[in-house]
Amino acid sequence: MNKRDYYEVLEVNRNASETEIKKAYRKLALKCHPDKNPGDKQAEERFKELSEAYAALSDAQKRALYDQYGHAGVDQGGGFSSGGFGGTPFEDLFGDIFGDIFGGGSRRSAGRRGDDLRYNLTISFEEAAFGLETKVQVPRHETCRTCQGSGARPGTSPQICQTCSGHGQVRFQQGFFSLTRPCPDCGGEGKRITDPCSECRGTGLTRSKKTLSLKIPAGVESGNRLKLNREGEPGAQGGPSGDLYVVITVKNHPIFQREGQDIICEIPVSFSQAVLGCQLEIPTLEGKVNLKLPAGTQSGKIFKLTGKGIPALHGYGRGDELVVVRVETPTKLTPRQKELLEEFSREGGEEIHPMGKSFFDKVKELFG
Ligand SMILES: [Zn+2]
Ligand SMILES: [Zn+2]
Repeated sequence: MNKRDYYEVLEVNRNASETEIKKAYRKLALKCHPDKNPGDKQAEERFKELSEAYAALSDAQKRALYDQYGHAGVDQGGGFSSGGFGGTPFEDLFGDIFGDIFGGGSRRSAGRRGDDLRYNLTISFEEAAFGLETKVQVPRHETCRTCQGSGARPGTSPQICQTCSGHGQVRFQQGFFSLTRPCPDCGGEGKRITDPCSECRGTGLTRSKKTLSLKIPAGVESGNRLKLNREGEPGAQGGPSGDLYVVITVKNHPIFQREGQDIICEIPVSFSQAVLGCQLEIPTLEGKVNLKLPAGTQSGKIFKLTGKGIPALHGYGRGDELVVVRVETPTKLTPRQKELLEEFSREGGEEIHPMGKSFFDKVKELFG
């Protein structure tokens, strides 16, 4: 089945803000909510579609992936079931509107997932072209070894919170609705530490640096991300760790420019080289190659070195190197050189400049 564009599903434009997306989702989701349309298969489908689109676009990372790669960018890795990427359990989206419809309170026992981390990695143009293996040190938290993450001094254990009796949530009345909110006394943990661990001061976490080996594939570009599952911040109460995103920046190259898989290299040649032709040494990503410049080469002429570009990311084949000839107009001539050129100019008829001749012929036709 062909999936509809998520922005289209939510009826927002592509640069809609987070708030606009949230608003649009709520408005549409209220209309086709299954509780309001019992037995209506179409409404149910529409509701599913909306939830999926919202799950993708409300998460900045997923939205960026979607913007770059479309559905393929967000479909990998288990889709949108709650607890997937970012874990936006469905009932959370509606918590404040539907209150108790979804029951709530059932998902606390699973433990909180750790935060995702971002690591910025700058690599050279060549490294981006051919890939690299490297080690990086990522600052992050680890579960405290002294207290095994409980936050309580070894030999003691956290006490059940009296305010919420360990539920982590307290109920309150708003109009007809009975709603819940996180317990203010234990911050939703359901437990309180009376004798904190001295190592982590009760947080259950210590700061550390984890050394990770990265394999950057050939063909990456600035802005590409590498996702390392479960290498982010540790979760709480046995919850899973977050993910680590390595975001790549590729340094500019002094002589090459990149255009997709092709690389572009501008070669300055002298006026006489262009006129008479010559043998040129052209730099490529893998050393120099020879190029025969034919006599009478015009400035801007492009020569293609097939297969000398960037390998396709996760694919086959390579781009090309495009060599752009730039004829350099000579400056600071010696009197002798000037004299020679003036002589050359007196000698030269129109037939040696066919482009100029046809241009000025056209001007004559137009303006008389
Ligand atoms: Zn500790
Ligand atoms: Zn509490």
